[in-house]
Amino acid sequence: MSSSQCRSRKPRVVIVGANFAGLRAAAQLSCRYRVTVLDAMAEFEWTPNIHEILSGVKRADGVKLPFGPAIARYGHEFVQARIVRIDVAGQSVVTEDDQRFHFDACVVAAGSQGANFGVPGVEEHAMKLRRVADAERIGAALDRLGRRKRPAKVVVVGGGITGVETVGEILRRRHCGERFEVHLLEQETRLLSQQPERVGRDAAERCKAFGVDVITGVAVESVSARSVSLDDGRRLSSDLCIWTAGLSLPGFLRDAELKAADEPWLPVRDTLQSAASDALFVAGDSAALAAPIAKQAYHAMDMGELAGGNVDRFLRGRPLKDFRPSRTPTLIAFGDITTWLVAGNAAAASPLLAAGKEAVYLATMAQLDSPWRPVGYTARLASRASRATFGLLLPQLNLESIVAGAKGSRIMLG
Ligand SMILES: Cc1cc2nc3c(=O)[nH]c(=O)nc-3n(C[C@H](O)[C@H](O)[C@H](O)COP(=O)(O)OP(=O)(O)OC[C@H]3O[C@@H](n4cnc5c(N)ncnc54)[C@H](O)[C@@H]3O)c2cc1C
Repeated sequence: MSSSQCRSRKPRVVIVGANFAGLRAAAQLSCRYRVTVLDAMAEFEWTPNIHEILSGVKRADGVKLPFGPAIARYGHEFVQARIVRIDVAGQSVVTEDDQRFHFDACVVAAGSQGANFGVPGVEEHAMKLRRVADAERIGAALDRLGRRKRPAKVVVVGGGITGVETVGEILRRRHCGERFEVHLLEQETRLLSQQPERVGRDAAERCKAFGVDVITGVAVESVSARSVSLDDGRRLSSDLCIWTAGLSLPGFLRDAELKAADEPWLPVRDTLQSAASDALFVAGDSAALAAPIAKQAYHAMDMGELAGGNVDRFLRGRPLKDFRPSRTPTLIAFGDITTWLVAGNAAAASPLLAAGKEAVYLATMAQLDSPWRPVGYTARLASRASRATFGLLLPQLNLESIVAGAKGSRIMLG
């Protein structure tokens, strides 16, 4: 079906945010609707692997895909525009250049952004890691610092998945002869506090084995150009502060009519409908279910799928379905040192599991890439696959590494 047939006068659906949740929602909607997908950015970003840009095993273009063709293949329209307001009563969204897109149903899939928790100096002196451009900036800073004679001091704030994966990539740079003095700070009493205790302990042991100073149970009071001050009175000198602690709603949603002032995220019912309007659905990181779930891409994709399906049911006057989070295992990479696979209370650690994370990345990027453009598709897939093979898999999957990796593999129970 041509896109002009698709875009005749039909019920209008607007999707705000085109990444994991938004793209998946768009895929569920047929041409019986006029679907407009809006995003401030031009390209899809595969965030689960952006930490690898820090060591150079991934390049920015390997984790991005243009939104336009991906959305056009569903017969929908993509518009690059920054949304500044959702007008609930007027059933429309407003862009920063004052365009208004009216809807009969809307999916808000605008994700999350790094939070600074009001800590002085974070915005000016720390580098956040949330998007591909952030990873490129941090990678460039590490390139500069890595050329110094004395080891540069790097403070990574946040001992969750992103912070641990960041430290792993800084350590991977040791193969280029670069040395960094790394501090990893976590406010909770242990690393990876959302994961089983054994995994957090293992992560701390691996960090210490590679000379990383792990400091838990302290909060950062302020960040300056040359230091990070802690609430126990310590001041760590720092050439680079990487901030991975915490997430918050994108600015335009913080004062939206979709939540009470003191709520950090947008509350939704099990159908993913906003408490503010039956015609508004929220999917992905922005949404707060009654029973909270981790802010992860696989949940965002599942929520996007359900939100898209429920928009269709809502507009046809059919009963909606409830969201039930899947129990997808989590893969946490620690450079070339190890990868943890966590499933409920059980976990395994092995350098060989890096291949699993890489396979998820390659398969999803291939699936998202447009099959209607075979030349570009094949070339990009081949380029990603060869980079993945030479940059990441071969160094870890040669005979020597497999033997060492198999020896370093362990099953851990909660
Ligand atoms: C370093 C890192 C590593 C991670 N690793 C993993 C992992 O291994 N596994 C995993 O499952 N998850 C991982 N995550 C989490 C995962 O990236 C998020 O859960 C996921 O991106 C959420 O998807 P989303 O669609 O809700 O939001 P996003 O992917 O953030 O997409 C939101 C979209 O909305 C757009 N947008 C925002 N504001 C506006 C606006 N005002 N106007 C228009 N468009 C707007 C953005 O440009 C963006 O394209 C990781 C995250 C990071 C940062």
